[in-house]
Amino acid sequence: PDTAGVLLSVEGVTQQFRGLRALDEVSLVVHEGEIRGIVGPNGSGKTTLFNVISGFYRATAGTVGFAGTETTTARPYVLSLAGLSRTFQNLRLFGQLTVRENILVALDRSRTRSIWQYALWQPGVWAHERRLRAQAAEVLQRFGLADFADADPTALPYGIQRRIEIARAMAARPRLLLLDEPAAGLNGEEVQQLIHIVRSIRDSGTTVILIEHNMGLVMSLCEQVTVLSSGTVIAEGTPRQVVTAPEVIEAYLGE
Ligand code: ADP
Repeated sequence: PDTAGVLLSVEGVTQQFRGLRALDEVSLVVHEGEIRGIVGPNGSGKTTLFNVISGFYRATAGTVGFAGTETTTARPYVLSLAGLSRTFQNLRLFGQLTVRENILVALDRSRTRSIWQYALWQPGVWAHERRLRAQAAEVLQRFGLADFADADPTALPYGIQRRIEIARAMAARPRLLLLDEPAAGLNGEEVQQLIHIVRSIRDSGTTVILIEHNMGLVMSLCEQVTVLSSGTVIAEGTPRQVVTAPEVIEAYLGE
């Protein structure tokens, strides 16, 4: 098989919840540099697929490979260290922390020191702290959040909160970013900003997979779309190809 440029491969993944088969032998391959859309009616298994890929669920059968390693049973924190970040359908920001601190906690760990070095007052700690703050400032700037750095994120408008979530996920400098319905609850202008943000994320070298109901957004962002229905992949192709596929039209008729 051609594995050149493959970042994520899902092979024959089944996820069984008691009597319910949320995913039924799902396979897909995502290449480095793609913006992939995952669409499908409610309950078709999209979030379950994200949970399997990011290690929150362990697949009942099948395998997941990320960045050249089999990660079927890898825990979420291991996948995060390996370069996989995600956002959730419902916002999960830390309300006790400022926006800046929400970014600081998520920064690329490969350059951090052990907590003991702080406790022991080692030389270099302050320089290191300055570097982390500079890195956080860079992320805030990049996502247009500098003005809100010291705010309580939960007091900010919803659209800004969603942007903070993406910024926090990107603070770890992931190779793969999973976005679960990033446009949910956004107004038209915010959707345009989101399109711009996702493109810049991909252009900076991070591969993106997004679950989305907003077909306009999928149309303008994704080169390839995977369509799920009742836990199986029923179509895959360009947005134009899939929206005209009879199986897809039929799957959405019940919505
Ligand atoms: P989608 O994201 O496409 O709306 P989901 O992946 O959230 O669909 O859900 C697919 C099906 O799996 C649904 O019927 C849902 O109720 C079920 N499901 C998801 N997670 C669990 C779970 N942890 N336990 C039991 N059933 C679940």
